[in-house]
Amino acid sequence: SYRSRSAFKLLEMEEKWRFLNHSDVQVVLDLGCAPGGWSQVVAQQLGWDRPPRRKREPTTPYPAAGESDWSLSSSSTWSTQVEPGSPLDISDLETPLGRGTIIGVDLLRMTPMVGVQFLEADFLAADTEALIRAIIERRLGPHGKADVILCDMASNSMGNAFHDIESSLAICTSVFEFSQRHLRAAQSIGRQNSGVLLMKYFSHPLLHMFRKEHLEPRFNEVRSLKPNASRSESKEVYFLCRGWKG
Ligand code: SAM
Repeated sequence: SYRSRSAFKLLEMEEKWRFLNHSDVQVVLDLGCAPGGWSQVVAQQLGWDRPPRRKREPTTPYPAAGESDWSLSSSSTWSTQVEPGSPLDISDLETPLGRGTIIGVDLLRMTPMVGVQFLEADFLAADTEALIRAIIERRLGPHGKADVILCDMASNSMGNAFHDIESSLAICTSVFEFSQRHLRAAQSIGRQNSGVLLMKYFSHPLLHMFRKEHLEPRFNEVRSLKPNASRSESKEVYFLCRGWKG
């Protein structure tokens, strides 16, 4: 079961457009991740719900003290190798497991999840970018970039339609600016559709203008998606932008 109904929206979009399930996806950001439905979907797509594939036979029958040996873990214990809630050493999450790292950010604390490095922070605060950057660099080195940026953030609606639109525009602008610095360009790995930004927005002419002025010139493809799982009376829609031009 999923932690949120929103999970079904992401599932639906992923099933149709397949932006997560590629072997070259190494880092996925989930902005506004709590309670964690989207993170669950991403973790499944990246294989975190399955024991790691055995790469080679163990050379010793038992791992040395303090050493983890994935090839010996049984399926019932494998997930404890990345202890939820413990201060994570990102190197634990690296290949040879071959699974991508998920970085989740939210103002609200999220119950730990295997495969997700969670940051309890305000994405719009000045110092959050450096924290995210540090995690990406520990995984991929100083030139590392995210392959997929997801954003389901929305400020608490105060029932004021104008406030909703204003804050949606502020979030989209901030996430787009962040993407300019931290999203991996499609040509750097030679896949036309890689470098993906999926973000929620509220339908309004100002957001449509934002799409035309900022998103369309910088991505090979931009779509507006309204998943069936999203209530039709809600104004929420998602920009799916693929092929970041860098
Ligand atoms: N995708 C999530 C899931 O499937 O569980 C649901 C996300 S919920 C619709 C929106 C989230 O955005 C809330 O948890 C809220 O705390 C978070 N949020 C709103 N503004 C934020 C900000 N400035 N920084 C970080 N998180 C924020």
